[in-house]
Amino acid sequence: MPCRAWIAWARGRKIESATAERMTRGALHLPGGRAVRFELPRPALGISRLRLDDLLAKRASGAGADVRFGARVVGAWPHDSGFRVRFVFRQEESEVHTRAVIGAWGRWDALDRAFERRFLSRRSRFFGWSRDYAPEAAFLQGEVRLYVFGGGYCGLSRVEGGAINLAGIVSENVRARAGRGWEALLTRARRGNRALDADLSKLSPGPIGFLGTGPVFFTAKPPTEDGILMAGDAAGVLDPFSGEGQAAALASGILAAETAERHLSGELSREECARAYSAAWRRRFARRFAWSAAFRRLILNPWIGAIAGRLVGERLVRFAIRASSGE
Ligand SMILES: Cc1cc2nc3c(=O)[nH]c(=O)nc-3n(C[C@H](O)[C@H](O)[C@H](O)COP(=O)(O)OP(=O)(O)OC[C@H]3O[C@@H](n4cnc5c(N)ncnc54)[C@H](O)[C@@H]3O)c2cc1C
Repeated sequence: MPCRAWIAWARGRKIESATAERMTRGALHLPGGRAVRFELPRPALGISRLRLDDLLAKRASGAGADVRFGARVVGAWPHDSGFRVRFVFRQEESEVHTRAVIGAWGRWDALDRAFERRFLSRRSRFFGWSRDYAPEAAFLQGEVRLYVFGGGYCGLSRVEGGAINLAGIVSENVRARAGRGWEALLTRARRGNRALDADLSKLSPGPIGFLGTGPVFFTAKPPTEDGILMAGDAAGVLDPFSGEGQAAALASGILAAETAERHLSGELSREECARAYSAAWRRRFARRFAWSAAFRRLILNPWIGAIAGRLVGERLVRFAIRASSGE
């Protein structure tokens, strides 16, 4: 995963001790030069994926999970009253039988094709990218900045240690027109947003460089497949402008685990478990996707975005962030 993240605070208090950066306010820089400043509805945390994933893996391991790095799941099927799961680990293919499976393979994987998931045929595709910058003591303290450019947007925030991360998304068409490589796209984005250009000109590149993603489909997906409970981006990808992707992934993972537990304790059959999870997932997350899509269209349309920004500015941005977080 390329991005470093700003994540919702209320659900991430335990992460505070990992010296994540804390953010309370933001600014949305529109292409015409206008900036909409806003307070975040709740403080957010800036933490790198490396650090967050490490904390989560250690916690899972401490709670008794058998954590395997580098194992690749290649198939999962209902079998008797449970499942068969096939995976490759250290170049050896094996199979386990299990009573419950939670699918958390992120926004796109060959497994989606194996399940013939319909979102793969959507024409509206985006690509994500990120790049790191060296720590700057005074820059962006307590703040996240978002910049809109033709066909995409990106955001700058601090992560632990004060390093600065830029991450963005861009439509497939604009990416193709920008020329080869992420550098060419960033040059185009800087030309399209003077505030982005001014802020980046103060920063020095960090050691990681550009990282890019495969195709990103911003959409809700079926929350279950053949009885498998889908969590995180595997159940649907939210726009990163809300900073809610990680928090929603954690929340849906907890919901999936709690529902699977009811199956393991004998309260629900496999089929009832899948139905209960689908209903609970839709109640809790479905509306966020509709709002996320509406705001993406709004901010990526230069005319409507500028007018909306001028008329309702901060209130609109705060509403967009709240709506995408399900509040
Ligand atoms: C450019 C960009 C910027 C973003 N910025 C933010 C942000 O600032 N804040 C925020 O909260 N969210 C942000 N997001 C969204 C956030 O990254 C996701 O919502 C979040 O990572 C989802 O977590 P996940 O665990 O579902 O998926 P992932 O983080 O993608 O994790 C899935 C994991 O499954 C593994 N996997 C995949 N297939 C298999 C397989 N077959 N077998 C075994 N393992 C497999 C992958 O290797 C990966 O480790 C951003 C997204 C993008 C694209």
